[in-house]
Amino acid sequence: MDERSVDFPIAILGAGFGGIGMGIKLLKAGIRSFTIFERAEEIGGTWRDNTYPGAACDVPSHVYSFSFEQKPDWSRAFAGSGEIQQYLLDVVEKWQLRPHIRFGCEIVDAHFDETDGTWTLTTADDESFTARVVVSAVGGLVDPQWPDIKGLHSFAGEMFHTARWNHGYDVTGHRVAVIGTGCSAVQVVPSIAPQVEKLEVFQRTPAWVLPKFDKAYPERTKRAFARFPLLLHALRSFKYWMSELFGPMVFLDAPRLSAIAERESLRFLAQQVKDPALREQLTPHFQFGGKRVMISSDYWKTLERGNVELVTEPIEEIKPLGILTKDGRLHELDAIILATGFDVGLAKAPFHVVGRGGRVLDDVWKDGAVAYKGMTIAGFPNWFTIMGPNTGPGHTSVLVYSEAQMGYALQAIRKLQGGSWKFVDVKQDVQDRYNEGIQKRMKHMVWHTVKSWYLDADGGNHSLYPGYAFEYVWRTRKFKPSEYEIARF
Ligand code: NAP
Repeated sequence: MDERSVDFPIAILGAGFGGIGMGIKLLKAGIRSFTIFERAEEIGGTWRDNTYPGAACDVPSHVYSFSFEQKPDWSRAFAGSGEIQQYLLDVVEKWQLRPHIRFGCEIVDAHFDETDGTWTLTTADDESFTARVVVSAVGGLVDPQWPDIKGLHSFAGEMFHTARWNHGYDVTGHRVAVIGTGCSAVQVVPSIAPQVEKLEVFQRTPAWVLPKFDKAYPERTKRAFARFPLLLHALRSFKYWMSELFGPMVFLDAPRLSAIAERESLRFLAQQVKDPALREQLTPHFQFGGKRVMISSDYWKTLERGNVELVTEPIEEIKPLGILTKDGRLHELDAIILATGFDVGLAKAPFHVVGRGGRVLDDVWKDGAVAYKGMTIAGFPNWFTIMGPNTGPGHTSVLVYSEAQMGYALQAIRKLQGGSWKFVDVKQDVQDRYNEGIQKRMKHMVWHTVKSWYLDADGGNHSLYPGYAFEYVWRTRKFKPSEYEIARF
């Protein structure tokens, strides 16, 4: 145990990929004086919560896993949510992280005290903890977004959100509706279609889909990966660099580049759907990459099944018996599944956070969330965010970014642990210059061309990183004290 860490409490918020990874980074550095606060009763974050049929990663598993905890025996190229959750459970077990985690402990308030350089965290049960450093890893896509549809709660049948699947309800033989056609819907629709009597898919905006090159790994391949870790690393690197190579097609506002991907997607649509009228309804009318591209080899073709109907008529109201569309048709249903996304938290304060001089994070961010490199916020010292503003990827694994953030926070923690530094607070002008650059680049990204969860209500983008992941990793490789105001004891 690092002797210096004894009086240096670190609070990590959230026990999903971000919090677990940060915990491991600290343990690897010999730092044990940390607590992970988790509001739920189990680790896993999004992979604990998203258990809907078909839930899986749409980024290859070898890239969507910690670089420092590679798994040679992924069952397939794109693992299901259960296997990803098991991976996290195994990693937590291996690193004996559980004793560091306080479950059922939701932090609802954080206050910084400049005199002693500590954060006071308060839980929903009014317990208090102090920490010298806070690493917020609360996740961006956590709380389900319930749609604002008239009469939503008047429905007399079963209704639940994909991110809170009701496993006590069997959809078999029932008349089911799925509202929404985003990444969650494209996974759930093909999975339940063969079971239900009738499936109605309510689409507001058709989106781009590309095939998922998924396959099960044969036992001998897994054995080879276990035996020759270099092979595993080579595969991971290959998959990662491929995602970077095709990145500009997904994130740049370059119509000629987008057109290549659009042609591919339309060709795929033609293969999957024979009915020209259905094809027309499914044809997107926004630039490729504007919204997250969906990866599925069976979503489009499922919509041509005899028991599946794509409904494009807007929803007027939800009635006790079903969904009433604007054309006056009542779609009678037994169950409604809301695949309507999340109340996005990438670009907002996780709760009431009060920094230096009483400034409140929600106020500071009222015109859009900004942070230095997405991690540190002027006026909120010793606070590091994993997956903060403008750090989301449109084209590759989020973990590439989060691992960079963990490494950066660790460097700062090491400096602070040295003893004489009370706190580090990123300089306002450094943060401002960085964000001017981000927003200047943002103009060249495709995301402003269509409304999506990537954008704030006023159209600003404070969620995604406008560029390559490797470039973000390069920019965040070094914690530079000169960019921070340093207060000493
Ligand atoms: P989403 O992409 O935000 O999609 C929500 C869907 O619900 C959209 O089709 C939206 O239509 C529709 N919708 C929302 N409110 C509606 C309303 N009032 N009436 C009718 N339709 C409504 O949500 P998601 O599919 O859960 O995905 C969110 C993000 O989670 C993804 O972008 C991705 O980052 C992540 N995710 C990842 C995976 C993975 O495999 N790694 C899987 C699932 C999700 P509009 O398009 O018209 O707004």
